[in-house]
Amino acid sequence: MPAFGTVSPRDEHNLALVAHVHPPDWTNPTPAPRYNLVVIGAGTAGLVTAAGAAGLGARVALVERHLLGGDCLNVGCVPSKCVIRSSRLHGELAKAAELGFRIPAGIEVDFAAVMERMRRLRAGISRHDSVSRFSKELAIDVFLGQARFVSSDTVAVGEAKLRFARAVLCTGARAAELEIPGLAEAGALSNETVFSLVERPERLAVIGGGPIGCELAQAFQRLGSRVTLLHDRGHILDREDADAAEIVQSAFVRDGIDLVLDARIERVERRGREKIVRVVVGGASREIVVDEILVGAGRTPNLEGLDLERVGVESDPRTGVRVDDRLRTTNRRIYAAGDVCMPTKFTHAADAAARIVIQNALFFGRRKLSSLVIPWSTYTAPEIAHVGLSNRTAAERGVEIDTFVRRFEDVDRAIADAETEGFVKVHVAKGTDRIVGGTIVAAHAGELIGELTLAMVSQIGLSKLASVIHPYPTQAEALRQIGDLYNRTRLTPGVKRLFGRLLAWRRRS
Ligand SMILES: Cc1cc2nc3c(=O)[nH]c(=O)nc-3n(C[C@H](O)[C@H](O)[C@H](O)COP(=O)(O)OP(=O)(O)OC[C@H]3O[C@@H](n4cnc5c(N)ncnc54)[C@H](O)[C@@H]3O)c2cc1C
Repeated sequence: MPAFGTVSPRDEHNLALVAHVHPPDWTNPTPAPRYNLVVIGAGTAGLVTAAGAAGLGARVALVERHLLGGDCLNVGCVPSKCVIRSSRLHGELAKAAELGFRIPAGIEVDFAAVMERMRRLRAGISRHDSVSRFSKELAIDVFLGQARFVSSDTVAVGEAKLRFARAVLCTGARAAELEIPGLAEAGALSNETVFSLVERPERLAVIGGGPIGCELAQAFQRLGSRVTLLHDRGHILDREDADAAEIVQSAFVRDGIDLVLDARIERVERRGREKIVRVVVGGASREIVVDEILVGAGRTPNLEGLDLERVGVESDPRTGVRVDDRLRTTNRRIYAAGDVCMPTKFTHAADAAARIVIQNALFFGRRKLSSLVIPWSTYTAPEIAHVGLSNRTAAERGVEIDTFVRRFEDVDRAIADAETEGFVKVHVAKGTDRIVGGTIVAAHAGELIGELTLAMVSQIGLSKLASVIHPYPTQAEALRQIGDLYNRTRLTPGVKRLFGRLLAWRRRS
């Protein structure tokens, strides 16, 4: 792919981005006789694998066909969170009167400025993932080009042949192409193109009510587009805790997003500059007229052109490369990490998997993917963050649980912040204080879930959490308060009677 590929517009920020992550004047090095590790794909999984292995003294080659940094830096987490940050001002402004500010009428969003800010910040962050850092500072041989296996110990990049002791597939995933008649002809945005917009689509249809669709639908609505969110289920974010998803869905309705649930999209048509989405909902047909369509539903693993069959690496076009719990593919010398092989498609999951691969591939490690506790967060307003089991997954696995809930309307700092929407919900193994999972809905739930994750990983029970001093007033206090709730359940009538007698005796003595 040429350096610029889908990177647009060609402004100073994107020039800086490309100069970092796919310098147009880059010349691939002469390959070493043999590498400890050849890493294919330089998204999070590939970069972490390559940097970690090189840091331990391995001879590493890293191959990237487009932009170092992969989806996360270029067309995923980083640009989306920059845009979401701007869109959050809308939420703040909506609370202005409550917070004692009179905002003059006629406040406008400068969409072009929002997107320029995003491009500027992304270009700055891209330094960490730059070709120059990986080649010069980390002494990794960086090859720009499409990789393919030519034999069980050799990867080809153009004319260059890279021989390896071990290889790692980190080729990620891309937006799924939906089989909706007329969609391809009418044209639709995906995460690969939406961050190139410089003009706001006045009317935007977003297909997909999962994390990516929801984050972007709310951000665009708050930046001034009139958004219609189409989802084929009865509720958005339907894989999340139902109470949590309900809060976010209500927020979407309040924001004015037109939610079309249980939607069956029949076809898409073009009428001049307009795009028409014909949809059936509950047996009735509806026509949605928009300026742009954004597809945010489903991910397809990047497997094409790798010649995996040649080296006995089994894969599935939907679920990706087949790996065992140690992230080894069906070829013992080839491992995989990240979106190309994992159902949990998150940057931090790709990062954690990469660390497992380094140990298992290079040092005879036996670390297992299933041993990881992987939280996730959806950055809507409010955010939903989750770790471990939910009510649904606990029931599916036959795990009996007790559940403790603390609502932010009872947490002093949340009241002061006017951020009372949401809750902390923690599940423990029945009759114990062992945390098996939890969901947080809050303005900054993604920041709070780390404490719950730490408690799970370190096997810190709810009882102990109650004794951890949290600064007052913070929203994180809700977690300690959950610990208090648990402790109170241990006060059986017998124990309460005993305490009563003891206190009466102390009064007399
Ligand atoms: C809009 C959006 C928002 C997101 N927000 C978040 C978030 O907030 N938090 C979070 O944790 N996750 C988020 N994600 C998910 C996150 O971006 C991915 O989980 C992460 O990027 C996966 O990393 P990876 O290394 O597995 O794959 P990728 O980042 O996809 O990298 C794979 C790389 O391999 C390259 N490649 C593919 N085939 C070849 C080949 N044959 N030869 C050479 N190179 C090849 C590709 O060009 C690409 O650069 C978001 C995703 C999207 C789309």
